Amino acid sequence: MKLLALRCPQCGQKLEPQQADVVAIACAHCFTAVAVHQNGLQPLDVYYAAPAQEHVERWLPFWVFHGRVHIQRRDSQGGSKGADKEAAQLWQQVQRLYAPAWHLPVAQARELGSRLVQAQPLFQAIPRPDAALISETVILPEDGLKLLDFIVLTIEAERKDWLRDLKFTIEAGPPALWAIPGRQQGAGWQLTART
Ligand SMILES: [Zn+2]
Repeated sequence: MKLLALRCPQCGQKLEPQQADVVAIACAHCFTAVAVHQNGLQPLDVYYAAPAQEHVERWLPFWVFHGRVHIQRRDSQGGSKGADKEAAQLWQQVQRLYAPAWHLPVAQARELGSRLVQAQPLFQAIPRPDAALISETVILPEDGLKLLDFIVLTIEAERKDWLRDLKFTIEAGPPALWAIPGRQQGAGWQLTART
């Protein structure tokens, strides 16, 4: 990919991604979010989540899928009925799947994603606030879906039984890109969106 030739399709400003595997980047001049494809650049629709506080440190990109997780088989050592029941209850309620999409360690992405999938926050979309710059997106939607496989597995492995085997499918349509206010806190991330 020729990174040198990247210019904002909206205003012509040069775009300077920090990561070679950039998927979407905000223009520092006009704040348009731009999708970077092999064959060109296009403005990208982004949903901005209403912040809980006035000051927003980062606008973090997430792919949010609407979908369902179907557990086909869950085997555990000892076969705890309680854990099976918890699993059934959770996945019955889950309708939104969140995949962190900026450059962050996989362990952090799993931790944050699993927290959100279990909590099912409903973010409120607002028009792009003045000067809101979405952090560079490096995860493609299909890789976000792969990350969600790990997230489902993480959630199930953390229950109080010894998970031996898990078979499931994720049924989801194309995701939307959300910019969610947040900040780094220690080794993890804290979201500061209103829910
Ligand atoms: Zn621009």
